[in-house]
Amino acid sequence: MSVPSKAAAVVTSPIADEVRVRFAPSPTGYLHVGGARTALYNFLFARQHQGKFVLRIEDTDEARSTEESLKMVLEDLQWLGLTWDEGPDPKTLKDIGPYGPYRQSQRLDIYKKYAQELIDSGKAYHCFMTDAEIETQRNSLMAQGKPPHVESPYADWPVEKALAEIKNGKSGVVRFKTKHLRKDYIFSDLVRGEVKFPSDMVGDFVLLRTGGMPVYNFCNVVDDHLMKITHVLRAEEHLPNTLRQLMIYEALNWPAPQFGHLSLILDEDRKKLSKRKGATSCHEFKMEGYLPEALNNFVALLGWSHPEGKEVMSMQEMTDKFGTDRLNPAGAVFDAVKLKWMNSVHLRELSNRQIFEELKPFLDRLNLELPSDPAWQEKSVGVFKSAMETLVDSAELYRPLSDKSFVVLPEAEEALKWDTTKAVVQTWRDLISAHPRDEFTEEEFSKIQDQVKEKTGAKGKNLFMPVRVAVIGKPHGTDLKLLVPLMKKASLVKRADEVLAKL
Ligand code: GLU
Repeated sequence: MSVPSKAAAVVTSPIADEVRVRFAPSPTGYLHVGGARTALYNFLFARQHQGKFVLRIEDTDEARSTEESLKMVLEDLQWLGLTWDEGPDPKTLKDIGPYGPYRQSQRLDIYKKYAQELIDSGKAYHCFMTDAEIETQRNSLMAQGKPPHVESPYADWPVEKALAEIKNGKSGVVRFKTKHLRKDYIFSDLVRGEVKFPSDMVGDFVLLRTGGMPVYNFCNVVDDHLMKITHVLRAEEHLPNTLRQLMIYEALNWPAPQFGHLSLILDEDRKKLSKRKGATSCHEFKMEGYLPEALNNFVALLGWSHPEGKEVMSMQEMTDKFGTDRLNPAGAVFDAVKLKWMNSVHLRELSNRQIFEELKPFLDRLNLELPSDPAWQEKSVGVFKSAMETLVDSAELYRPLSDKSFVVLPEAEEALKWDTTKAVVQTWRDLISAHPRDEFTEEEFSKIQDQVKEKTGAKGKNLFMPVRVAVIGKPHGTDLKLLVPLMKKASLVKRADEVLAKL
């Protein structure tokens, strides 16, 4: 589509020597996967262009933004490895970088100054309409089939008159004047191509609320300009805000950055991803045992694709190949099964030592008693590796190995009633206690099991299930050929004795 000539505002982008992008979260809780994707794309874009990745905190919503939430977001970003060049230091929260403060709550004087500039140049005005007046006007406009935009009687008041009212104790908002802007606003979105907004989509909108607190659209423009942001990659929900922002850029005579609005993230029913359908915050994924490299990889593919269709990628590969040309405007479906698969692939790329280190906090949480010998730890990972998906699931594989967790479970009862069971468990116990070493190889275990068969005549499930109960307290579970070589003789004897005591 070509840009219509007359009446159209062609928005120019700054010619930048350096790419500067930002992630601008409003800290109201843990980082959502949508936020993680926005942060990741901006991070990759900055790294690829040897530019700067800025972290700006949009915390002007005093009721919802808390210091605790801010720390949570910073922690999540750090866990993901999305480090920023400018913004609050993750430990001290002190600003790093030449364009601070990076927290909007500390920039209120700056917004006031630019609001004043707009008032002085007649592009904004003090408005004293009450909520009730606005509501009445709105209803009347709607009844006449007109758009319900505020038509303020104060729009053309001289500034002095408004200031006199304020001096007399009247309070009001500062509104941006839109009536004279009769044209289409057109810009080229990095994801969606040409986007056109007629100016009458919005009425005179608020810049500063009663009490002077600035609104998102205003702070966002002032900060992006002052922080010399060249590209804005952000969620699709902000697309309609872009019209108001373009109007502000124009009024302040500032070039606008290049915008790119990312696709929605949908659940499996193609509805907007929400908490009700499972984990959506990075913190939850971390606690569920996902690796940051897997989450980054998975999230990267929600709306972007590798030029050769590659699915499993390291951060470096993503940095090398990322480009806005492959950002897809269509909604991206969050496939939890794929995320799990991706995690298992990234997990298996680590060494056995690294995997054990990753597993440690999860094993600690289960309060298991396991050998601390590094060789044993690595051997155990080697045994379980092929069954590992998330760290939480993987930690569960270790439970049968912990003496502290050994109990004979109710599901073992049936096997304990069989006629041959007592002889099987007793023979198993005698054979393992006669074993010359502290440990068993897979072959030694199989040999002992065959001897139990010969001596007792038990076979099939009458043989396997009682032995398994004697090892893990239940008749089903991980193959004993894998488990027994990870266990010590004394532990196996003790477990068998506990089972025998029940017979
Ligand atoms: N604070 C906004 C948000 O969290 C940022 C929007 C933007 O990137 O412009 O959605």
